[in-house]
Amino acid sequence: MPLESDVLVCGAGIAGIATAYHLAVRKGIENVILVDERPPLTLTSDKSTECYRNWWPGPDDSMIAFMNRSIDLMEELAEESGNIFRMNRRGYLFATADPDKAEKFREAAEEAERLGAGPLRIHDSIDSDYEYSAQQMDNFHAPVSGADLLLGKEVVHRHFPYISGKAIAAIHPRRAGWLSAQQMGMYMLEQAREHGVRFISGRVEAVETRGGRVVEVEVASKGEALHIGTPNFVDAAGPFVGHVAGLLGIELPVFAELHMKVILNDYLGVVPRDAPLLIWSDPQYLPWNKEEREFFAKSEETRWLLEEFPGGVHTRPEGGPESNMILILWDYKNQVMDPVPDPPLDPLYAEIAIRGLSAILPGMSAYFERMPKPILDGGYYVKTRENRPLIGPMPVEGSYVIGALSGYGIMASNAAGELLATHIEGGQLPAYAKSFSLERYQDPEYRKVLKKLEEESWEL
Ligand SMILES: Cc1cc2nc3c(=O)[nH]c(=O)nc-3n(C[C@H](O)[C@H](O)[C@H](O)COP(=O)(O)OP(=O)(O)OC[C@H]3O[C@@H](n4cnc5c(N)ncnc54)[C@H](O)[C@@H]3O)c2cc1C
Repeated sequence: MPLESDVLVCGAGIAGIATAYHLAVRKGIENVILVDERPPLTLTSDKSTECYRNWWPGPDDSMIAFMNRSIDLMEELAEESGNIFRMNRRGYLFATADPDKAEKFREAAEEAERLGAGPLRIHDSIDSDYEYSAQQMDNFHAPVSGADLLLGKEVVHRHFPYISGKAIAAIHPRRAGWLSAQQMGMYMLEQAREHGVRFISGRVEAVETRGGRVVEVEVASKGEALHIGTPNFVDAAGPFVGHVAGLLGIELPVFAELHMKVILNDYLGVVPRDAPLLIWSDPQYLPWNKEEREFFAKSEETRWLLEEFPGGVHTRPEGGPESNMILILWDYKNQVMDPVPDPPLDPLYAEIAIRGLSAILPGMSAYFERMPKPILDGGYYVKTRENRPLIGPMPVEGSYVIGALSGYGIMASNAAGELLATHIEGGQLPAYAKSFSLERYQDPEYRKVLKKLEEESWEL
């Protein structure tokens, strides 16, 4: 009996699963086959920090409208599942010791407000800030949105006494937080399967076309070559999205960067269990002692440890009040590379991340001499040059891509899966569809703003 499907999705990471879910559950296209050579969600989608935010730069409202939609959809899933994936709304807290950066926080918040992220509220004295509740929101329904800008050391420390006394300002975007990506993905996969989606364990080896359109996909599965007839093929291959598009002779404008994260037992409780995602925005020099500095200065291989490191080190508590675990992530060395299945991880990462984190959380210095045993992992941010995703048709009829989801693929997965499913069913596309299509690079108007987009594409 030959295998047939209406849509075949290559890749059961969060992007492929969200596509299958939106096709089957929300749009009623039930004859969908999902193919992956690994168990679902085990390549990149289980390596993330699992955070989300509607806090994005312009110059247009594409990213904010897209993320607002994605968060709406995640909230619907949280609601219907009894919040099985523990979505919260604690927000992100960016802190700085630099007056120029404080001004940039204000400009960014004004822009985000104009583009639809919600209102900016400014708190610049301890008398005027009574309405700001830093109390963290474990309730994903919390109505608070937009951002709170805290100005002045006293105001920052009144609400966040545990962060560095050097912080003179902090911005707290509120439609933001985190969730369990694994549980959200598995919930969507189960729903998709109940609506007819079939999972095949195997590797997509070839995509056949006839008369310029997709007709069949070859999958190597358990020593057999399966030939699956299908008019629609979705490339959701994560780090290998470029390779899979290459099976159709298509070259995608993407590259991959290796990013790492560390999980630690914060047994001293330096990160309060009710903290938001905490981010130190300023560049810094790592706090080494005199002997360490002299030692590192001697060798070419270690001298870089004495150079300036970029801003952006961040952490959040992982697990409930009974847990001591924290996640730390710091993109100090975005290494562009051809993706390989088991990427090489920097053995110094944990030590560097802990030292860097002491800039915002001085209590971390207690771990310099006795570091808790770190668990290190990592994966790839697959990116376009302006850090916007690729979602939509590819140049061969019947072929589609959902990829280049960079460091935001979990939070974007729902709006991305919905958008691709809408492309496939031929439905009414949202206004942001154009900004994420592969065709955008042919548009002279888009090319004019590309440079600005490249400069502004925020990353965490
Ligand atoms: C350290 C780190 C932190 C991050 N933090 C966040 C965060 O806080 N918030 C957020 O939203 N995002 C975050 N991300 C980004 C997010 O994890 C990714 O954008 C997302 O997981 C990408 O999902 P994907 O489905 O495109 O790729 P993947 O999860 O990699 O899935 C792709 C799948 O395709 C399969 N595949 C590839 N080729 C083939 C083939 N030929 N045949 C069959 N199967 C194939 C693979 O086996 C894999 O399972 C982070 C990423 C990293 C690395």
